[in-house]
Amino acid sequence: MTLPSELFRTRNSGIHESTMKLHRMFPPRWAGFIAAGWALVLAIGAGAVEYKAGVARVPITPDLPCWLSGFAARNHPAVEVAMPLWAKALALEDRQGRRAVFVSTDLIGLPGALSDEVAARVQREFGIERARLVLNSTHTHSGPAVHPNLSVMFDWGPEDQRRAEEYANELRERLVQVVGAALRDLAPARLDAGHGWATFAMNRRQFVTNGIRNGLNPSGPFDHDVPVLRVASPGGAVRAVLFGYACHNTTLVATSYRVHGDYAGVAQREIEQNIPNATALFFILCGADQNAQPRGTIELVEKHGQALAAEVRRVIENPMQPVRGPIRAAHTTCPLAFAPHDRAQFEQERQTGSVFAQRRAALMLAAYDQGAPAREIAYPIQAVRLGRDFTLVALGGEVVVDYALRIKRSYPRENMVVAGYSHDVMGYIPSQRILREGGYEAVESMIYYGQPGPFQPDVEERVMKGVDRVLVDAGAARRR
Ligand SMILES: [Zn+2]
Repeated sequence: MTLPSELFRTRNSGIHESTMKLHRMFPPRWAGFIAAGWALVLAIGAGAVEYKAGVARVPITPDLPCWLSGFAARNHPAVEVAMPLWAKALALEDRQGRRAVFVSTDLIGLPGALSDEVAARVQREFGIERARLVLNSTHTHSGPAVHPNLSVMFDWGPEDQRRAEEYANELRERLVQVVGAALRDLAPARLDAGHGWATFAMNRRQFVTNGIRNGLNPSGPFDHDVPVLRVASPGGAVRAVLFGYACHNTTLVATSYRVHGDYAGVAQREIEQNIPNATALFFILCGADQNAQPRGTIELVEKHGQALAAEVRRVIENPMQPVRGPIRAAHTTCPLAFAPHDRAQFEQERQTGSVFAQRRAALMLAAYDQGAPAREIAYPIQAVRLGRDFTLVALGGEVVVDYALRIKRSYPRENMVVAGYSHDVMGYIPSQRILREGGYEAVESMIYYGQPGPFQPDVEERVMKGVDRVLVDAGAARRR
């Protein structure tokens, strides 16, 4: 990782320096917005000063050479850093001193063990319980491999392996640091929530003669919601913007070997350039079966990112819903079981499968050898509620859009945001419908994640039970 000794910078300390650097790299395009936006935010006056908020960031741009993660077709390390990558934290505290911290990372996904270690450290060092720490990744496919996430994709020598492990170790330290820095930055703040929409996400499960391919399915389900949480000083100056979208960060494709945050990176950069001293944090929502369209070039990644940033700008320039009330949170893990498998099928796969299937088979056979074949995962499910005005459900894995639509339908009184890619990205989380239909999200993707095969058909009901549990524990209103 490219890092100076000064590992993190709060908005109050050295961050301006890096903001200025970014300004030089990417000249602002919203020249007229800065004045107009500020004036409007001040005029709106927003909600009462109900909270304290703190914001911080640390760079997590990898040193080169570094393998990028997300596309199995890549066959050499990255050649260039086209955009810096960040871990950013937003800490909130209510009137009773109850806290929550939201962390966004420009990464493919966090391995569960790494998140567990970060959460344990954060609890020990800062007294923040697991339920009150949200660790999300943008799922950029132009960021570093985060060992051991998706290790089946890579055929590394010892040096690549060592570097990947070193990156993961350094990342763990920086995530703890960024949380601490955000907590030290706590100062009175007002919060407001709103929604916009963006239309570049399209369902990618294309039905063809022989099954389903990763392509275009314009009639498939999607979620174009752009939830926005605006954090402002008592005087109305915007300090942070947390926003989300349900779409893979795969505008740049497997032929790209440049470190980049994809559309989420562009959107965060644009917002930060145009709101002085504000930090933009992107959370990816349930976009596992959604791709940006069209895609494949750096021009398109700019186009989608700027469209998203412009929509966030529209939302924060207009009246928003004041957010008030206590911060409540709950976290659980629920077991998600795999369909039955046996040793013989992996013996066979090791002989006849693709190179990736052979690596998966080797992992599964090693688990059988140890007498502990993979039968289920411990799936993380979390809810954080800000009064009755903003509810975040954060789910592990690559969650398909059906979940967000179902959860929002089930809790119509909640201002609901459903994020996937949180805490542990261990595989795709298909709905019952997608499991039945088959295709990449149900079956083939499990190879790259080193999982034995598809989940049992009850996966959706198990997840929903866990979601109900954390939402009720966090005080959410049940169905009408
Ligand atoms: Zn993915």
